[in-house]
Amino acid sequence: MIRKLISRVFGGKKAAPSKNEPAVIPVSSHGITRDRLSSGSRRTCETLQQHGYKAFVVGGAVRDLLIGADPKDFDVATNATPEQVRACFRRSRIIGRRFQIVHVMMGQETIEVTTFRGELDANTKKDEHGRVLHDNVFGTQAEDAARRDFTANALYYDPATEAIIDYHHGVGDLKAKTLRMIGEPKTRYREDPVRMLRAVRLAAKLGLQIDPDAKRPIREMTSLLENVPPARLFDEMLKLLTSGHAVKCLRQLRDEGLHHGLLPLLDVILEQPLGEKFVMLALANTDERIRKGKGSSPGFLFATLLWHEVLMHWDKLKAKGELKIPALYQAMDHVLDVQAEKLAITRRIVGDIKEIWSLQPRFEQRAGKRPYALLEQPRFRAAYDFLVLRAQAGEIEMEIADWWTRFQRADFDQRGEMLLPEAAGDKKKRRRRKKKPAPGDVDRSSGE
Ligand code: ATP
Ligand code: MG
Repeated sequence: MIRKLISRVFGGKKAAPSKNEPAVIPVSSHGITRDRLSSGSRRTCETLQQHGYKAFVVGGAVRDLLIGADPKDFDVATNATPEQVRACFRRSRIIGRRFQIVHVMMGQETIEVTTFRGELDANTKKDEHGRVLHDNVFGTQAEDAARRDFTANALYYDPATEAIIDYHHGVGDLKAKTLRMIGEPKTRYREDPVRMLRAVRLAAKLGLQIDPDAKRPIREMTSLLENVPPARLFDEMLKLLTSGHAVKCLRQLRDEGLHHGLLPLLDVILEQPLGEKFVMLALANTDERIRKGKGSSPGFLFATLLWHEVLMHWDKLKAKGELKIPALYQAMDHVLDVQAEKLAITRRIVGDIKEIWSLQPRFEQRAGKRPYALLEQPRFRAAYDFLVLRAQAGEIEMEIADWWTRFQRADFDQRGEMLLPEAAGDKKKRRRRKKKPAPGDVDRSSGE
């Protein structure tokens, strides 16, 4: 009630239907001059306009500029068809099959140019849950605005006039720090359940409150996420985890019950004190790196999110009598297979995750030549960071992580002094091997 009142005071009324005339907000009121745009997006709009088309910077960039954040990218929307856009720029190409967009190359920048999308109608192909499958009709600017998800994402900036065209009261909502869905939230979530995740991510990233009407249905609609292609979920999850606000996002995902469909057993992991501490530490580290502009490794992130599940399976297999290392590999494969059913982690990232995990037992070996060999591993650094995190979370002794911190920094002689004595078990193994020598083994053992 109070929020409604506040939003009315700020001029925030419900999203207007698409047929309504938009508000044209002049630069004197919003303050965003054209030099705040990337030069590529500005030139793209200018060229399209010189050819007689409408062209605007649209979506996240306008929203981010309005709240004083740095836009990640500048997208352009136009009434020109992809073919017409293509004809305006020498360095451009059409991509996508179902809904074509054009990539325009401007110096180092690639600008995504999208033709206004049309209204969904009776002919729109949907699955049995209402999820839109094909979305390839062009339309007017007003229709395009109505197809966007949140009012703050449906703002069009015209570099020629420096005005913002606002069909759904997005500027007012942003001022009131509200993330409001365009249209009826339940219908919009049914059309595309990923919008529930976008709501959480954008609210956390931009410091907005999800409007109660858009927030309320999420809890009862979470199961719709099961129906989203795993590759799409992965993309969105990656955006969420690398938003610089992952801790906040994850907390909110949990509050809304949205984590169930994304990372199997994440709820279980988070309920174990050690698991929760580990994941939150990892995400807080990543958030800090991203906010400092250092970038992050998706492999590392997913390795941390799934590690406690690996630990659980690894323990079970060892309890059944499996040998330590084969059991680890089995546990890794199991966890990644289960994960793949929900959220398709790309193959390259799966490779990174496996390397980080499989190097962990090798940190326990601190005698002989093995520590030197581990240092030479290409993924040593990531695996070491992972080890430190395990220690910080209390899973292993901090002493091991400290030892590796010092070992890396030590010079040749100091390293020699740091090595631990060979464990009795290791010596026995070597003696056993001596009895049945394999060709390479004889030399190695006699040299030590
Ligand atoms: P980010 O800061 O992550 O780039 P964004 O809002 O710009 O956030 P994009 O995925 O770049 O997100 O999408 C660009 C624009 O396309 C959005 O601002 C929104 O207008 C529209 N859009 C994106 N995804 C959806 C969706 N699922 N449903 C409706 N509109 C969408
Ligand atoms: Mg964007």
